[in-house]
Amino acid sequence: MNIHEYQAKELLAKFGVPVPAGYAAMTVDEAVEASKKLPGPLYVVKAQIHAGGRGKGKFKELPADAKGGVRLAKTAEEVRAHATDMLGNTLVTIQTGEHGKQVNRLYITDGVDIAKEFYLAVLVDRATGRVAFVVSTEGGMDIETVAHDTPEKIHTFDVDPATGFMPHHGRAVATALGLTGDLAKQAQSLAGKVYDAFLGTDASQIEINPLAVTDDGKLMVLDAKVGFDGNAMFRHKDLAELRDETEEDPAELEASKYDLAYIKLDGDIGCMVNGAGLAMATMDIIKLNGMFPANFLDVGGGATKEKVTAAFKIILSDPAVKGILVNIFGGIMRCDIIAEGIVAAAKEVNLSVPLVVRLEGTNVQQGKEILANSGLAIVPANDLGDAAKKIVAEVKKAA
Ligand code: ADP
Ligand code: MG
Repeated sequence: MNIHEYQAKELLAKFGVPVPAGYAAMTVDEAVEASKKLPGPLYVVKAQIHAGGRGKGKFKELPADAKGGVRLAKTAEEVRAHATDMLGNTLVTIQTGEHGKQVNRLYITDGVDIAKEFYLAVLVDRATGRVAFVVSTEGGMDIETVAHDTPEKIHTFDVDPATGFMPHHGRAVATALGLTGDLAKQAQSLAGKVYDAFLGTDASQIEINPLAVTDDGKLMVLDAKVGFDGNAMFRHKDLAELRDETEEDPAELEASKYDLAYIKLDGDIGCMVNGAGLAMATMDIIKLNGMFPANFLDVGGGATKEKVTAAFKIILSDPAVKGILVNIFGGIMRCDIIAEGIVAAAKEVNLSVPLVVRLEGTNVQQGKEILANSGLAIVPANDLGDAAKKIVAEVKKAA
């Protein structure tokens, strides 16, 4: 789960990380009001979308020479003009794809006189299985470009979980940034606080770009991108509230509401399966029979009728789906519950594609009876191989 820059900064500030003052705004008037609460003389109006590269981005609705999604302002009237330009319009950046993202929120923040821009990220290094720091003097630019053109300018090291963050880690950050004296001390302290924020929130990444040195010698976070480990969100109810659903894929969002593991894929056959292993096997056997899965969908162990109905609707909302294969092993999950969900959903959505169902396990007989008595054109299958063959044949027949 990702959050907006202003939320990331509020979070980092709670851990003592220095950030400029600022306020979020949903309307032009709120943006102007926000600027009046700031000391000035320089304000920055920043589009809040879940993508970077906003400064160099372009608005679809504005002339090509119009400024991007990060703009300086000297007066409340300039703030008003920028806010009017941005709100409701579509910002296209290197990270949004060509469709861009609609700007629904702004962040009005203190303008800072920047002497230098650095890069600092904390993330999980999957190779070492540890929390790692990535530090570079080349801030404010696209880090992938820096990594490609001048890899020697990127310093990385990881933190042993047995010791946690140590003073030498802080010194390593300061040294990598070429800082001495008071700025080195600030860097050491800031690195420790960012590490605390990372662990304390079960983050998967905290990327600060730029980390700025101001003209008056202060280290400050000017842009922050924070993502959390979705699997840990159950223990961060407060963070879950930061979610902005307008930024997410509608089908995946709907799936997450019902606690379903759903990933859209490129094929034609929708799959509804319980258990990730069985889901993988189902996808494989569809391929073996010459077609491709349209999605991965694991309804989990304790699925209710509502959950199954939702899963069914999500699969059917994908226009690429030409047939559906339901493959359920009823262990914890009872086959009759699955069958009720399938029948309820199929009736509700007016099923227009072939449906093959393979049920096995607890209450399988009741399940099969519910399907057979439903009056729906459901093709029953006896095992996995049979099910895959049948759905491929049904889809080809319907085509
Ligand atoms: P993005 O990475 O999406 O383009 P940033 O927040 O990094 O957005 O802003 C782009 C650039 O704008 C920064 O590299 C910095 O030079 C400038 N900038 C951002 N915030 C401020 C600020 N509060 N004061 C002064 N300049 C800023
Ligand atoms: Mg940035």
